[in-house]
Amino acid sequence: MRIIVSVILLNDAPGVPRPKVCDPQQPACNHEPNAPPRPGKFQGNSARQPQIPPCIPEPCANLLGPSSPPFYSSPMVHVGIGYDVHALVEGRRLILGGVQIPHPKGLEGHSDADVLMHAICDAVLGALGEPDIGHLFPNTDPRWHGVASQLFLQEAGRLASLRQGKIINLDATVIAQAPKLFPHIQDMKINIAAALELNIRQVGIKATTNERLGFLGREEGIAAMAVASVDLP
Ligand code: MG
Repeated sequence: MRIIVSVILLNDAPGVPRPKVCDPQQPACNHEPNAPPRPGKFQGNSARQPQIPPCIPEPCANLLGPSSPPFYSSPMVHVGIGYDVHALVEGRRLILGGVQIPHPKGLEGHSDADVLMHAICDAVLGALGEPDIGHLFPNTDPRWHGVASQLFLQEAGRLASLRQGKIINLDATVIAQAPKLFPHIQDMKINIAAALELNIRQVGIKATTNERLGFLGREEGIAAMAVASVDLP
């Protein structure tokens, strides 16, 4: 105990410099500059072991900003999450997953308000580290007024391809008290797979009610959540 107290007092003593946790200007490399990079903690396929640049001290890696070298430089799977909700109103068509579903109300929005495609789009964009769908296709832009949301998904797919990324799979849940969505799930999968040039077995779509709780349970709106995994070089 006496030794520990002495060390604390020594470090806090006037004139004794505190050790820097992180100094991006003078990274404390513990290796020769040309030393081979050491493997990260990734436990997957050894051929895909991410390599950590040898001269970036780990405490600094997340503080160096967007111009810094990537922390991981080898291919790996990125995941993204998306969520969207739109109000149900009269006088609109109900479009979910590109399928027009018979219902007294439809979703309100600037485009076709396809809440499922919007959530999947955000999941893909999130995996790519891109801005969300609202930034790419703002609802103040007349070009997107009334358009089919397949367009947004196609653009997300194009951005993935630009990065030589491959979408591995998608999974989504639609939360709607009504109508029953199960009869339309397969057609939704076909539309979403087509927009992203995937096999429908890479696309998971489920539907659930909100057990009559809250605004979703009162049929005031429909929500969707989604995740996407993208293999990026
Ligand atoms: Mg939306």
